[in-house]
Amino acid sequence: MALEHPGAPAAPTHDLAPAPVFSRDVLTIPRHTLPAEELDPDVAFQLVHDELMLDGNARLNLATFVTTIMEPQAKLLMAECLDKNMIDKDEYPQTAELESRCVNILSNLWNSPDGGRATGCSTTGSSEAAMLGGLALKRRWAARQKAAGKPTDKPNIVMGINVQVCWEKFANYWDVEMRLVPMEGDTYNLTPERAVAQCDENTIGVVAILGSTFDGSYEPVADICAALDDLERRTGVDVPVHVDGASGAFVAPFIDPDLVWDFRLPRVQSINASGHKYGLVYPGVGWAVWRDADALPEDLIMWVNYLGDEMPTFALNFSRPGAQVVAQYYNFLRLGFDGYQKVQQYSRDVATRLSAEIEKLGPFKLLTRGDELPVFAFTTADHVDNFTVFDVSNSMRERGWLVPAYTFPDNRTDLAALRVVVRQGFSHDLADLLIKDLKRQLAILEKQPAPVHDESTAGGFHH
Ligand SMILES: *Cc1c(COP(=O)(O)O)cnc(C)c1O
Repeated sequence: MALEHPGAPAAPTHDLAPAPVFSRDVLTIPRHTLPAEELDPDVAFQLVHDELMLDGNARLNLATFVTTIMEPQAKLLMAECLDKNMIDKDEYPQTAELESRCVNILSNLWNSPDGGRATGCSTTGSSEAAMLGGLALKRRWAARQKAAGKPTDKPNIVMGINVQVCWEKFANYWDVEMRLVPMEGDTYNLTPERAVAQCDENTIGVVAILGSTFDGSYEPVADICAALDDLERRTGVDVPVHVDGASGAFVAPFIDPDLVWDFRLPRVQSINASGHKYGLVYPGVGWAVWRDADALPEDLIMWVNYLGDEMPTFALNFSRPGAQVVAQYYNFLRLGFDGYQKVQQYSRDVATRLSAEIEKLGPFKLLTRGDELPVFAFTTADHVDNFTVFDVSNSMRERGWLVPAYTFPDNRTDLAALRVVVRQGFSHDLADLLIKDLKRQLAILEKQPAPVHDESTAGGFHH
């Protein structure tokens, strides 16, 4: 509804031509049906713009892994490419070329033996990339079973219960039995022994996560591979590994050079990563890369015409924006290895310092310290019984900070934690302001007689 200032003239004279934004006749505009008539673009803009103010400030959202800041030059390139459809490789051959350069860059960064002619593609995010990685595993397993004259009706996939929901979607949508390894005690992610214990000849693969959305920890990819090597030696069962590197595949190569988690491990067949997380691009881009052409079954590839050539594609979507892929390439050029290293190291420095400061406050116990992904989880100390992590989350919202609180999955549903994701744009200075606000809210919480919020009242939080 357009509003008029009480002091405004009743109707504009023909001499005055004020912007029409708030000076139209009073309108009512339906919210859930298509309005019958047109609206002035300024009025439409203002209505949408004003409503979106309630979304809060993305930079203060410490729940998300997704990029909330980019350089103006990147934004300009994205604006230039808003009208380009990634699938039209014929019409936009240079966008297609930049995509394939990005795949090569990542394939080399992750030490593919075939880096020179990499196999991979861009996607809308890690979820789509995980679907593609999982499908390739399923096809390869089925082909192997068929060749051996064995049944193909009971595929399973093994992973920790801390997997992101995209893997539950994969298992559900493509009829693969999900073998989720629960958390036990202080072990919040997949261990080699537990992974192997779930594997048999119907296992299409093991998913190892770098790193976990629950607490930012890296799963021990190399140890999981070694345990599967041993399984193969003992039983002949050969189980490939897919690394869900949604965040870590853009972190570990730069600041954990000694960690061997990628295609250097022969058992690792495919890797997914979110360009829009630590790849530092705004939402809308992910990457799937296979170790070599053999790891991606030919029959999953569709061929599209590309400037008279046939071009292979493997994707769930057809049309998709080209802007994010262009922005990814911009980041690669702009930052180079050194630039990514600086950005990720800074985030890790902020995360480890902030977690240490939080530990020093007294009422909290750290579950992780931000020294793997720049992400850490913490809970209330044993002596705290008058407020919950949900109370803390809620009270930080009063200061504009979104610090999510959530319960862990089986077998640690007794454990509830807060999580902070440090990413580009979250400076030491903002960390100091967060600590200051946390201290100030704690002074209030410490006086409350009993917990107020639990999971059911704290507002939703989804991984
Ligand atoms: C974020 C995330 C995903 C899903 O990625 P999107 O890019 O949001 O689709 C999958 N796995 C892990 C480990 C993640 O952190």
